[in-house]
Amino acid sequence: MSASVDRPVVVRARNVSKRHGATEAVADMSLDVHAGEVVALLGPSGCGKSTFLASIAGLVRIDGGTIDLADRRVSGNGVHVAPQDRRVGVVFQDHALFPHKTVADNVGFGLHALTRAERRSRVGDMLDLVQLADKGQRYPHELSGGESQRVALARALAPSPDVILLDEPFASLDPMLRSDVRDEVRSLLNLVGAAAVMVSHDIDDALALGDRLAVLRSGRIVQVDSPEEIHDRPLDEHVARIFGPVTVLPVRVTAEGPVTALGAVASSAVLAWAQGPVSLTRPHGVEVLVDSIGSTGDAVGTVRARHFVGHAARLVISLADGLEVLGDVPANSVLDIGAQVRVRHRNAQD
Ligand code: ADP
Repeated sequence: MSASVDRPVVVRARNVSKRHGATEAVADMSLDVHAGEVVALLGPSGCGKSTFLASIAGLVRIDGGTIDLADRRVSGNGVHVAPQDRRVGVVFQDHALFPHKTVADNVGFGLHALTRAERRSRVGDMLDLVQLADKGQRYPHELSGGESQRVALARALAPSPDVILLDEPFASLDPMLRSDVRDEVRSLLNLVGAAAVMVSHDIDDALALGDRLAVLRSGRIVQVDSPEEIHDRPLDEHVARIFGPVTVLPVRVTAEGPVTALGAVASSAVLAWAQGPVSLTRPHGVEVLVDSIGSTGDAVGTVRARHFVGHAARLVISLADGLEVLGDVPANSVLDIGAQVRVRHRNAQD
């Protein structure tokens, strides 16, 4: 758990639902976001991430449930506060800068309540913050992708909103730029200490920004936790797969402790899933040996498929009981389709 959970709740969403015609885009979502915390909503296309974000922003009217921002009801029970009155800053996927306004005028857009002098001073501070002080008179088409991302963030932050909402903020950036911009945005959000909710279908984006991850599926939040908890203790196989290929091994509890087909596992690695106790293993956590080298206690299997994954060759191995295990071997390994192998947990004691 991140330390931020001790801080006040800035976004309190309870049982939010939203239909688009026959589609239940958001079925029943509840989420707390604390001051200074970034929560990343993660899930495949169509699972309801954007609709939930738009509900918080006030861009859609919810059908059920309530949303409070900084202890003020903004949606639900007959209330719908307009987006511009929610003290929310939004950064869209395409940055949505006004093309015919300068960078400075884009950043100052939400500052109508200030005098001209106050606005100029605030815009200057925000441009300093995002390190674009020398680009205030440029137009959006004169900026790089990373710069326009920073302008969009400066514009969202300028009115000191209670919460920043980021909708796939890195999706339009090329991969080379992406990780630098992610780091910049992360440090800016830390610096201003705003609560933020970010939407992404990309685990790397979510990990770069999120103090906590909320994993969505079919309009529902399946699990909300720190990235470490989601990785180590996912609530089901779908969540486990967010971090890439995984083998789910049923666990038998014996007098000597928990055991899987690949050998003993620590009690702390056993997850209580609906189908019974299981333990997860990633392909690099499986040791694959030529049949004649393994010890008698190791599971015996046959290589069914092999594909190159860059740093290794990944094998799909069928065990005698039908279980399929993924195991990585060096890319130059002789083990190929049809080979008889023995497999065990890589950290297993002999
Ligand atoms: P995500 O952001 O996870 O891709 P969305 O919130 O955009 O998901 O969409 C959730 C579901 O609602 C999808 O099935 C989508 O097709 C549907 N949907 C979203 N917006 C609209 C809309 N304005 N009209 C009709 N259906 C919509």
